[in-house]
Amino acid sequence: MTDTDNSTATDPNKVDAVKLSLMLTELRLPSIKQLWQTFAERSDKEGWTAARFLAALAEHELAERDRRRIQRHLQEARLLPGKTLASFDFNAVPMISKAQVNALAAGDAWLTQGANCLIFGPPGAGKSHLASAIGLALVENGYRVLFTRTTDLVQRLQVARRELALESLLSKLDRYHLLILDDIAYVQKDQAETSVLFELISVRYERRSMMITANQPFGDWNKVFPDETTAVAAVDRLVHHATILEMNVESYRRRAALEKTGRKRGRPANFATEKNSGSD
Ligand code: ADP
Ligand code: MG
Repeated sequence: MTDTDNSTATDPNKVDAVKLSLMLTELRLPSIKQLWQTFAERSDKEGWTAARFLAALAEHELAERDRRRIQRHLQEARLLPGKTLASFDFNAVPMISKAQVNALAAGDAWLTQGANCLIFGPPGAGKSHLASAIGLALVENGYRVLFTRTTDLVQRLQVARRELALESLLSKLDRYHLLILDDIAYVQKDQAETSVLFELISVRYERRSMMITANQPFGDWNKVFPDETTAVAAVDRLVHHATILEMNVESYRRRAALEKTGRKRGRPANFATEKNSGSD
């Protein structure tokens, strides 16, 4: 060994960068691993205290961890792409209170109590959009959500039951603060004959929340469950602690299409198409 080697080995301020990187990997601190050298240089230059340096690194690690967690939760949530509260036109559904929707989107009390939300309205009213947008806001607020077509989830539950794994799937679904079941009325007759949906509702009752969209408020629900008694019991549990949003409006798509043609008609004559001038 040379003299210089000896002097570095005994200098207490000398840090082995490679070894530190390995230690940070082992400790699972990827952000600190990536940032410490830049921060150390700044800290040396600007005369930060050791505590400030450490706190700055810890803050970055935590922030990055949050970001990655939300990213993971967004992926697992299977929300509808592009459906946000910002792109939802509340003027189109005057009976829906924006404040109430914002309260749902914040989470808190209703999710911790395992309360539910039922969204009713005809096809095209914006139920799926609103449900997915609330789901997105909840994920961004740190909650775990799963958006699924009801028939898809019932199918998964039925398969699990056949494989004697229903319990385990139900407890897996427990990790979601909110299950969004889109279009409950579309459950098929043969799917309804098993009571897996009822079991899901019972297991989550007063513990974990569900958001359900339907074209009909309860009218068609008898065919979703194996018999009338089960249907009544399911509805009873669902509505016990529930916010009900009724979107009694005409299809948004239809209205948007009508508005578009309306606007075309209103154009100055030299912009009007032949078809418009002859229509109606
Ligand atoms: P539903 O689930 O009630 O059948 P959707 O949520 O699928 O209706 O809405 C149909 C289409 O219209 C979607 O593309 C949706 O984004 C859009 N839409 C519906 N209502 C609104 C609204 N209030 N603001 C913006 N877009 C809307
Ligand atoms: Mg829909």
